[in-house]
Amino acid sequence: MKIESGEIILTHDEVFIREDIFTNVPGDERPHLLARQCQECGDISFPPFQNCLKCGSQKDTVEKVLSNEGVLSSFTIARQVMPGFSPNYILANIRMRDDPTLVLVAQLTDVKAEDAEIGMELTMVPKIISRRINGNKVVSYCFRPIDPDKVTEGEGGQLL
Ligand SMILES: [Zn+2]
Repeated sequence: MKIESGEIILTHDEVFIREDIFTNVPGDERPHLLARQCQECGDISFPPFQNCLKCGSQKDTVEKVLSNEGVLSSFTIARQVMPGFSPNYILANIRMRDDPTLVLVAQLTDVKAEDAEIGMELTMVPKIISRRINGNKVVSYCFRPIDPDKVTEGEGGQLL
């Protein structure tokens, strides 16, 4: 995987966890998550839904590029994991800056468990989170601390 002008370019043995969740923003080197937003009540859904689950509007939701940033709301250490995942990853709820009711579930990366703190500011980074039976590596969205003092490069979110 490499990133060029915010676009994620995969190698032949890598796949996205979902095809429709990453996008790039002109002038921004970082990839962004692509959510959807209700045209009637404004609710943001991620993973994206075609229809609003909150108000039940009949209008299709529209694309909404997320800011990438949020705060750590809660987390747990996943010691027993599904085949293909590395054990002891940090599974977190991240309250997104875009909307305080929007909470994403994702792995934390580049941080030690003892440095994870509720309320810490996080930013999204794409990472390989698992390996499929056929050997393909799965690229998903992870979050890492914004504070460089909390970043431990390579900690978490990596395959064994
Ligand atoms: Zn709605």
